[in-house]
Amino acid sequence: MANPLPTGTTTLTNAAGASIELKYCGTCHLWRPPRSTHCRVCNRCVLLQDHHCAWTANCIGERNWPMFMAFLWSASLLGAWILAFGVAQLVVEARDRRWSAAAIIGFYPATMAALVMVAVFAPSVFCLATFTIYLSSHNRTTRENMRRRLGRRRGAPPPPHPYDLGSGWRNLLAALTRSPARYGAFVGQPIPRPGPIVV
Ligand SMILES: [Zn+2]
Ligand SMILES: [Zn+2]
Repeated sequence: MANPLPTGTTTLTNAAGASIELKYCGTCHLWRPPRSTHCRVCNRCVLLQDHHCAWTANCIGERNWPMFMAFLWSASLLGAWILAFGVAQLVVEARDRRWSAAAIIGFYPATMAALVMVAVFAPSVFCLATFTIYLSSHNRTTRENMRRRLGRRRGAPPPPHPYDLGSGWRNLLAALTRSPARYGAFVGQPIPRPGPIVV
């Protein structure tokens, strides 16, 4: 008779004495490594999963976080560039040709369309880009940050975050270089298995 799959959680303690809880993933049949989450869309456990991005159609996590940051910041810079040069074009043309605003807008529909798109999308992209800097400088994922905020809203003290490297710059550098330091001192620690695993 097959042994039952392990359920519940196990506790992993590092050399510094900090403890974290690990859950068993019944879908992937493994104890989830520190800071990983099972993504329902990708149907697998993802290290440092921040979220499943509908725009890029994949998980944002351990391997692509710096690229995701670069994507958001380059999109923000592109939005700023379109805004600056689009407005400058309309203003200069209106001044040189002595056209009314309505005439200029009618003559440059593509510029107007680009400016409207920038006005709609760029603020949220820029806010998200800024938020990635905040998360990285605290060495948190969006999930971990939300968990802390929910706990604070309920009046509970924020749960300890054993992955904080002690300085914002150090955290940011670790995120940008995909350093193993992001996992604290839990990397390489044997995972205590309270139950047998049946595959
Ligand atoms: Zn899983
Ligand atoms: Zn996913």
